[in-house]
Amino acid sequence: MVVKEKERLAVAVQKSGRLYEKSIALLSQCGLTFDSVKWKEKLILRCSDFPVDLMMVRDDDIPEYVASGICEMGIVGQNVLEERNRSEADGGSGIEVLRELGFGRCRLSVAVPASAPYEGPRSLDGKRIATSYPGLLGAYLKAQGVSAEIVKLKGSVEIAPSLHIADAVCDLVSTGSTLHSNGLRETQTVFESQAVLIGTRRALPAVVVEARRKALIRIDGVRKAARSKYIMMNAPKSALPAIQKILPGMEEPSIMPLGTSGERIAIHAVAPENVFWETMEKLKAVGASSILVLPIEKIIA
Ligand code: ATP
Ligand code: ZN
Repeated sequence: MVVKEKERLAVAVQKSGRLYEKSIALLSQCGLTFDSVKWKEKLILRCSDFPVDLMMVRDDDIPEYVASGICEMGIVGQNVLEERNRSEADGGSGIEVLRELGFGRCRLSVAVPASAPYEGPRSLDGKRIATSYPGLLGAYLKAQGVSAEIVKLKGSVEIAPSLHIADAVCDLVSTGSTLHSNGLRETQTVFESQAVLIGTRRALPAVVVEARRKALIRIDGVRKAARSKYIMMNAPKSALPAIQKILPGMEEPSIMPLGTSGERIAIHAVAPENVFWETMEKLKAVGASSILVLPIEKIIA
């Protein structure tokens, strides 16, 4: 039997939930378009203009798909990845973190009932802590030398104290409003998380390696563009050194004379970081005017 070699890159993405939209948005910005309009109902979406298929799965399964090589890449929260790596025998050796993606930011935190006393991690000694992250919490407690009972729950961890199942919780938080509305107080961050792009460490056929290389260049381009701004301004020529001091990361600005006297110039440049109002005010103070800051869609350096 001749087994056909794999020719397409499979990327595991959360089917629905907090990472779904931003994951799809990132891939779309990379120029990937997908065949199906009813994609929410599909398990696999085929990209029509790039050798990529998306596997739409639950986020908890993404590390496994990548470790086993069913998917070559995946987008998942570091919290899910690290929890999985702590409980599986392979310890995550089959998975490589390729990029931090800057979205899906949250923290895994310990919270106690608002009225309960808390004076540091030792206050958790002998307590019951409800969590869906026994691996990460266990590692934290061990590092702190705290001995507490971990109560494993799959969901709705925040109601455990009011049900008297636990004395504290360890759960994902972004704004803290869920904790607050359940009468809990955040006391300690155990793990900081964001979405990451992961890749399999298994050997890949050359065509898939090439597709992965191209996909990474595009992802880097989108991420770099998201951080960068295009800035334009007019200024007296003599103000150029002061302007360059205010925008130190500005790469090789284009400088064009305004009018015929040669005293005033237009400056166009890519600023590698966001340009804030304060920066624009400083530019104005050294003589710049008509300052425009524009978003950049794509960059290939
Ligand atoms: P699935 O059905 O795929 O298993 P889920 O319910 O486990 O989804 P979501 O609530 O959609 O997961 O969260 C997905 C990921 O989003 C989390 O693992 C985490 O990395 C990230 N995240 C960002 N902010 C938060 C938050 N406030 N609470 C929970 N997760 C968050
Ligand atoms: Zn999940």
